[in-house]
Amino acid sequence: MATLTKKSITGKRLIVFDLDGTLTETKSNLKADMSKALDRLLAKKKVAVIGGSGYKQWQSQFISELGTSPQLLSNLFLFPTTATSFYRYNKGWKKIYAYKLSIKERQQIKNAFRAVLRDIRYVPPKRTYGKVIENRGTQITFSALGQDVVARLGEKGVRLKKEWTKKNTPLKLKIVRLMQQRLPRMEVHAAGFTSIDVTRKGIDKAYGIRQIVRYLHVPIEDMLFVGDALFPGGNDYAARRTGVRCIAVKGPAETKRIIKEIVG
Ligand SMILES: [Mg+2]
Repeated sequence: MATLTKKSITGKRLIVFDLDGTLTETKSNLKADMSKALDRLLAKKKVAVIGGSGYKQWQSQFISELGTSPQLLSNLFLFPTTATSFYRYNKGWKKIYAYKLSIKERQQIKNAFRAVLRDIRYVPPKRTYGKVIENRGTQITFSALGQDVVARLGEKGVRLKKEWTKKNTPLKLKIVRLMQQRLPRMEVHAAGFTSIDVTRKGIDKAYGIRQIVRYLHVPIEDMLFVGDALFPGGNDYAARRTGVRCIAVKGPAETKRIIKEIVG
């Protein structure tokens, strides 16, 4: 059975990774050893990455930490903001598309957040870092501790996020439910540890996988998806709907082991 599993993952042409919690710790920089592991993988396979945060965040968290040669970078495909944007390397990172929300849609979403938080008498954390409600162009994201908590506090920021999640997940899910009621034509997702993403309807990891099929011309059978939230309610769960072969990991250490197995 073990060898069968191994064969069925090493035979795939394209490996798709979630970003936060899978290739990196949440909102934390890519580590040098993961970059090296990716290099070995990129020498053999195409690699795509899908994550919820915006391209700017990816530049500092992921792209600038890659030690990869330009030659190998042509095998790497980036799908920030849950694949509502796509970047590929061709003498520098080039935007292929970005589907932005209209000004009206963005305003509706921000107003809904304000109304819901007011209705439930939401008490924000004592300190927040950066924007709590952020416009990412293709999506609006609420982050309880603010967008920049990890950028400013480093590991302490990651710890604060985990603590907030532990205490406040029922509250977060309540906000998600109320937001969804107010915005029936949008998609509201509990994402990451402390965030809630609002996008146009149908934007999730399944959408991401379909965009990858469409733009990279690789069929689902030739893909493998690796993510840390493949459980029901997790933000990778939707990927399973596409029938893609999925491997659940607990974090970057496990991801590295999977890469090792694929590279052989
Ligand atoms: Mg994740």
